[in-house]
Amino acid sequence: MARAPRIKHYHAPGRVNLIGEHTDYNAGFVMPIAIAVGCDIRVGSIRKKEIRLTSRQFPGDLSYPIDSIAGMSKTGTWADYVLGVAQQILALGLELKPMHLAIDSSVPTGGGLSSSAALEVSGALALLGDNEVTKLELAQLCQRAEREFVGMPCGIMDQYASVFGEAHKAIMLDCRSNTHKLAPIPDGAEVVVVNSMVKHELGSSAYRDRVAECHQALSHFPGKTALRDVTLGELERAASKMEEIPLARARHVILEDLRVENFFAAAEDNDLPLMGKLMVESHRSLQHDYEVSCVELDSLVDTALTIDGVYGARMTGGGFGGCTVNLVDPKDVDRFENEIIARYQAQWNLTPAVYRFTPSAGARRVE
Ligand code: ADP
Ligand code: MG
Repeated sequence: MARAPRIKHYHAPGRVNLIGEHTDYNAGFVMPIAIAVGCDIRVGSIRKKEIRLTSRQFPGDLSYPIDSIAGMSKTGTWADYVLGVAQQILALGLELKPMHLAIDSSVPTGGGLSSSAALEVSGALALLGDNEVTKLELAQLCQRAEREFVGMPCGIMDQYASVFGEAHKAIMLDCRSNTHKLAPIPDGAEVVVVNSMVKHELGSSAYRDRVAECHQALSHFPGKTALRDVTLGELERAASKMEEIPLARARHVILEDLRVENFFAAAEDNDLPLMGKLMVESHRSLQHDYEVSCVELDSLVDTALTIDGVYGARMTGGGFGGCTVNLVDPKDVDRFENEIIARYQAQWNLTPAVYRFTPSAGARRVE
């Protein structure tokens, strides 16, 4: 009797960013960890020359003839994240085989934990099959899919973290050289993520606005290719000629890059109070200078900072809802969880989800 073909199974994690927000598309520094939740894809073979997509989280059974994919434009559905990746694989001169991708993700969608990159990266691994690309090319082709096909002008952080994640370590990524250093998470702290359970519609248009405002700020510094290259002194000297909004956006980006570098050094020194302080400064900057927070995220941070054992708290991800990330003494995590849930419920009549994440490995074939 013929043996049943083995089903190929791929996994790509979501991520939580510890510090360095809205710096990736300014060629700066970020420090995400890959997390234990992710997107799983099982690949089945099919006869028709099609890519068939089903997702446990999104109803429907979608099929696209392979010959049509190179010329497609976005459909406005979740399939775009996979179709964009398929198009990028074709653009590399690689072949797509007919297949059914059965998608099942444990990353909450739109929660700032990057369900989109987890889908892109696991989708790319499945569609690539035996075609080999480097890990960096894998991350970059997924980023191009999101930028060019989905139409979101994102940086490289989410896809890079999903590909390069490492157990027990954070990744300090330089978004210009696309290289990273590993940073330890001190034993004396746990990374606790709190989901505000809100996602304000403003999010994606505001993201585009911020990208544009950073370009506008950069135009005051001829010869520089990214805000990463502008020093605080140079910004101060240009301030009188700049409009208030681009000035505030640039101030956030420049100081946030410095905070990531200081956070890395603090992690290596086991200096949890300093790590926490930098997280809070990051949040205040995102709240007031970059203006991507919202009242629910601010209240989660403000509440967290009144609870014993919390070193620091900040919003994480693009903003306008989604999650906060908190650095909490392990012995206080249970109480933190109970208190933050009770107080957020009392204030907003919503129950926040709380996740305890340890840094996890990056994308891989599981079987
Ligand atoms: P985030 O990446 O922060 O979760 P995004 O808005 O960038 O939020 O991406 C969320 C989108 O990604 C969803 O609306 C959906 O289109 C797609 N997506 C994520 N996970 C899945 C899944 N399991 N199945 C199908 N589509 C998904
Ligand atoms: Mg996303």
